[in-house]
Amino acid sequence: MTFVDLAVIGGGQSGLATAHVAARRGLRPLVLDAGSGPGGSWPAYYDSLTLFSPARFSGLPGMPFPGDPERYPVRDEVIDYLTARTAALDADVRFGARVQQVTATDGGFLITTADGAVVRAASVVAASGGFGSPYRPALPGLESFTGRVLHAAEYRRPDELAGTRVVVVGGGNSAVQIAAELARRATVSITTRGPLRFQRQRILGRDFHWWLTRTGLDTSRWGPRLLSGTVPVIDDGRYRAAIVAGNPDHRPFPRRFDGDRIVWADGTGERVDVVVLATGYRPDLPYLTGTGAVGETGVPLHDGGVSTVLPGMGFVGLERQRSLASATLRGAGRDAGFVLDRLLRRAGRHVAAAR
Ligand code: FAD
Repeated sequence: MTFVDLAVIGGGQSGLATAHVAARRGLRPLVLDAGSGPGGSWPAYYDSLTLFSPARFSGLPGMPFPGDPERYPVRDEVIDYLTARTAALDADVRFGARVQQVTATDGGFLITTADGAVVRAASVVAASGGFGSPYRPALPGLESFTGRVLHAAEYRRPDELAGTRVVVVGGGNSAVQIAAELARRATVSITTRGPLRFQRQRILGRDFHWWLTRTGLDTSRWGPRLLSGTVPVIDDGRYRAAIVAGNPDHRPFPRRFDGDRIVWADGTGERVDVVVLATGYRPDLPYLTGTGAVGETGVPLHDGGVSTVLPGMGFVGLERQRSLASATLRGAGRDAGFVLDRLLRRAGRHVAAAR
């Protein structure tokens, strides 16, 4: 059995930021990641993905994002960056180590991995993201829809759906980006419950994130309340223009799916080949089953990222756990420092016990 100060579950950006900050605070973190190599979930994101934040705002603590700070890096640059960040980390990182169960014990936690290894840790930070837990809303008739239903997590490139009739469900960045790129190869509608909201990527010559940072909104705990509801789609000009041009066309939410058809809000129906659910993710925390640490919606019970149920357990990378930036590259490091400091203060006796 291995004994560690801190076990970090997940070696994506949230886990890397946590391990880096922990090492700086004198801990010896062990990072356990289910994947076969570095990069978190980025290698599985769709091919055309380009960051909505410039390189300047996309670095983790301890290593700025390389290259022109004003450019918007593409997916593979993020993978390269996270690979380099992993190699430079002052921590033990184990890939192929899927955590199956975390159990609270007197003075810490027992962590069991799928290959039967057991780790004892004084503290645990869950940084396993949400990509393994795509959210699939129950839409009327969708369960018996005879066409193909795809979650955005499974979408890679437009060729796969060329020539088909596609309905994209959702109004966030992924929904609009996928619908717009598919619309060049397929007949595409995007459907949302409310209006689509757009945010210009650049304002007065500056990236939107510069303004978020300058105003303090990015890191303020009031940020999520001020910008509550649907996240606006960050638009470099292409997305709103595509919707205004009707390719893809934007429609109100359908009444139902029926066999191989969709019945739109106005009662008209048509055959559809593929429904793409761009409906987001829930925290992927199956290893906390039975601990009481996760609420009914799948979101852990926490205060600023520190579990209110299990002393010594924290979370990094949850949507809006502290601020608008929480589940982003630029936010991971700040949240990691905040969570670790609170965790260590509250659970100090656990850390001391494991030394
Ligand atoms: P992940 O990257 O999902 O990493 C989690 C890690 O945990 C994985 O390596 C996985 O193998 C591991 N894991 C899971 N379960 C277990 C387990 N049981 N045991 C051990 N390991 C486990 N953010 C930005 O800042 N800018 C952007 O432009 C941007 N674009 C995005 C576009 C898309 C399509 C999506 C989905 C997200 C985007 N994000 C963006 C948000 C965010 O930065 C990413 O989702 C990021 O991958 C989250 O990092 P993470 O480390 O929290 O989780």
